[in-house]
This record gives sequence, C-alpha cells and structure tokens, in this order.
Amino acid sequence: MELCDYKLGMGTWQMAENRAPGPEERRALSFGIENGLTLIDTAEMYGSGSAETLVGEVIRTVRRDSLYLVSKVYPHNASRKKMKEACHASLRRLGTDTLDLYLLHWRGSVPLEETVSAFEELRREGCIRRWGVSNFDVSDMEELWSVPGGNACAANQVLYHIASRGVEFDLLPWLCEHRVPLMAYSPLAHSARYRSAIASSTALRDIAAAHGASIYQIMLAFLARQENVIAIPKASSAKHVAENLNSLNIRLTPDELRRIDADFAPPTKKTELDML
Ligand code: NDP
Repeated sequence: MELCDYKLGMGTWQMAENRAPGPEERRALSFGIENGLTLIDTAEMYGSGSAETLVGEVIRTVRRDSLYLVSKVYPHNASRKKMKEACHASLRRLGTDTLDLYLLHWRGSVPLEETVSAFEELRREGCIRRWGVSNFDVSDMEELWSVPGGNACAANQVLYHIASRGVEFDLLPWLCEHRVPLMAYSPLAHSARYRSAIASSTALRDIAAAHGASIYQIMLAFLARQENVIAIPKASSAKHVAENLNSLNIRLTPDELRRIDADFAPPTKKTELDML
C-alpha cells in the first residue's frame, strides 16, 4: 500500500520512553495491526530509540509487506555523512531492512540539497522506499521544490487537529496541489494548550452524543473526511486504538461541520505553522 491509501495510522511518541514498554503498549500496537492499522509512525528521537525497539518487537511476527513503517531522522543526522548510520540504527531497532517512509523530523542547519541527496542514496540502496519531511511550512516546501530532486518528497508530517487549523489556509492546499500527503500529528490535540477549548466546545460534545461517540472520535472523523490527510493518533491501550479505528465509520454532516467551524474557526489568513 502507498501512504495515500491510508486514513489512519498509529503514533508512538512517548511510548516505551527510555524504559521497558508495558504489556498494554504492546497489546495496543498489536491490536491495531491485527485490525488493519498497519501504518506505524516512529522516530529515532522517541525514547532515544526505545519506541523503535518496541515497534520492532511487536512486528517481529507480522508479515513485513502488510506494514507501512515510517521513521524520522534528527536534523543533526540529516547529512550525507550521518544519515546512513542513523537510518541503519533505526532499521536495526525495528528489525527490518527497509523503511516505507523516512522523514526529516524538522529543519535544521544541514542544507536541504544535501539532505535530499542523502535520502536518495538510501533509496537507491533499498534502505528506504520513499522519503519526506516534517514540520515544513509552505515556504519550506517551496524551497524544497527548488532543490534538485526535492519534488520526490512523499509526505509532510505536521501538527493538525480540530483546534489548530492553520494548515487549511495554505499548506494543505499546496500539498494537495502537489500531491503530497499530509500526515496529521497530534490529531487528538495532545498538547495542554488546547485542552480548555476542546473541553468547553458544546458543538463537539453534541456531535459526539449524536453519533454515540467520544469527542476524540469526532476529532479524528473531522480529519479523516479530507482527501490527502492521514491522522496518526498515539494510543497506549487497545481500548483507545479500537475507538480510533471506529472513528473511520463516522460521517459528519454539513450541519455538524458548520457547528465545528463556529467553535473552531477555520483560518482566514496565514498563520505560522503550529508545532509542539
Ligand atoms: P495525540 O494527539 O495522538 O494524542 C495522544 C493522547 O491521546 C494520549 O494521551 C492518548 O492516551 C490519548 N488518546 C488516544 N486515543 C484516545 C481515545 N480514543 N480517547 C481518548 N484519548 C485518546 O498526540 P501525539 O502528540 O502523540 O501525536 C500522535 C503521533 O504523532 C505521535 O505519537 C508521533 O508518532 C507523531 N508526532 C510527530 C511529531 C513531529 O514533529 N513529526 C510531533 C508530535 C507527534 P493513551 O496513550 O493513554 O491511549
């Protein structure tokens, strides 16, 4: 499968954080995979590699070609010299010989041209199938497109959720036009910054009640209804994973979307790309 065939995946940030993972975290990931959530997002940064190790343990008995594995390289490792070593370390921890997608976690000081050429070398060697970026705004994407080979970028992973909709103004349209999927991180508004706006939204509460769902399921349904958007919620219990999966069955009506717009206004001007 290609990235654009997915609507939902599983995030792994703050799983197995520098410690042995709990059985519940393993169960959550296994349950997701068994039920079709086969896109897994991780990074060398998460738990300094322990999230990748957890994923590697969980997928050991799963057919590799049924999975879509995404990992990310630190900006300081995104050079010709260091990326190969970083990628091989990720592959070792994941127990696989290839990543489906390898992302630059955020922009650092290594020139984009060098990062693109390092990605392409890994691709030629078969260590990665595709590469992409994360936390890139429109100006970053345009700069990437001006670099030789930059338009081979296969994804941009950015913060996007119901209470942070800035990307809808320009970045999401740009990505759609250039056929680059947007991976929405923190789709459940993990950051404390948004908690009160979400908790006080009567629209969210009413819509959730009307669908017999939780507000979190509505937040995922809000993202999943859009072409070119793939949400990657992190859930450390099978119960949460099941709820997230079930959100794919929720269809929001035009009236419900209007109510959401009233509580969480869509952007009317350019705003700086939101990040965690
Ligand atoms: P999310 O928005 O996915 O929120 C995670 C929180 O939501 C956890 O506390 C989780 O609880 C809870 N949760 C999950 N499912 C449910 C549910 N059905 N009902 C209620 N609560 C639920 O936050 P993240 O910031 O983790 O983002 C998701 C993923 O995106 C990350 O794990 C990571 O893979 C990626 N990411 C990428 C970044 C980047 O810079 N590229 C930055 C940040 C994240 P519990 O764990 O108890 O289930």
